[in-house]
Amino acid sequence: MTVARPTTLDEAVDALAAMPDAQLLAGGTDFMVEVNFGHRRPTEVVALRRVAELRSHSTDGDEIVLGANVTYSQLQTELAEALPGLAAAARTVGSPQIRNAGTIGGNVGTASPAGDTLPFLAAVEADVVLASAGGTRCLPLADFITGAKQTAILPGELISEVRFADVRGPQQFLKVGTRNAMVISIACCAMVVDIDRRRVRCAFGSVAARPLRPTEAEDFISEALDWSALDAEADAVDRFAELAAGAAEPITDHRGTAEYRRHTVKVMARRALTRSLRA
Ligand SMILES: Cc1cc2nc3c(=O)[nH]c(=O)nc-3n(C[C@H](O)[C@H](O)[C@H](O)COP(=O)(O)OP(=O)(O)OC[C@H]3O[C@@H](n4cnc5c(N)ncnc54)[C@H](O)[C@@H]3O)c2cc1C
Repeated sequence: MTVARPTTLDEAVDALAAMPDAQLLAGGTDFMVEVNFGHRRPTEVVALRRVAELRSHSTDGDEIVLGANVTYSQLQTELAEALPGLAAAARTVGSPQIRNAGTIGGNVGTASPAGDTLPFLAAVEADVVLASAGGTRCLPLADFITGAKQTAILPGELISEVRFADVRGPQQFLKVGTRNAMVISIACCAMVVDIDRRRVRCAFGSVAARPLRPTEAEDFISEALDWSALDAEADAVDRFAELAAGAAEPITDHRGTAEYRRHTVKVMARRALTRSLRA
């Protein structure tokens, strides 16, 4: 097996250009599980962990930029104040060991319906920046994730960062699983209340092949909210939760039934909104 171990982004894209079919390795918390189960048999690997540029983040100005190698541990410490919703999602991922190794770029790269950072990134309408020897291109997350564990990444490309506009207002992340820790979600929810643009945005994980934005529910509650008091009538909160549950496209699997997932979306939608209004 050939393993390239670049230390700069330029070296990384050059290594990929030289081995366009090479597989990308970040923290290895998904990658190595697949190797161990025999589902992945790499012959060429570009290991990104030493690329310091990919580990940086910036929250200055109007745009947030997170390098692909930013770990869950960084999200829950260094970025907790700037991005409380994403930090809350990071706190629910795996164990401390997984959070030290696992990266946001790996979560986006795997594109699992249960990826815990994905609902937050969907709610803030993040862009995924893809770098290659030919330059960079930028895709909205909604276009980058094309299906369950399917993405629009091309040979020779790597995710260098995710970017999104800074949002002022309450943020929530809720996750339901079969236990309280070390668990893949049965359903999860991220909510971002954008006070300046008077928009409530939310997305759900594990209830569709891709992160699900209930846009009708978002539009309804954004109109119904009393923005000066950041409050809503109880009927409007109920209607929002019903619209969100109606938008879900859940399946039944070993973690939960479609009916339970739809019910969970309704409960989480109401809870996330209520907490945001009280925040
Ligand atoms: C015990 C355990 C518990 C877990 N718990 C959770 C959980 O609660 N929630 C959750 O969401 N996930 C969980 N995971 C899954 C995993 O930790 C995350 O998906 C993590 O974010 C993967 O990141 P990584 O850096 O380890 O990626 P890797 O495993 O190195 O790579 C994952 C995939 O992304 C690709 N990739 C990596 N970096 C890039 C890049 N820069 N550009 C393009 N493609 C790239 C790889 O080629 C690979 O296909 C768990 C895993 C384990 C083993």
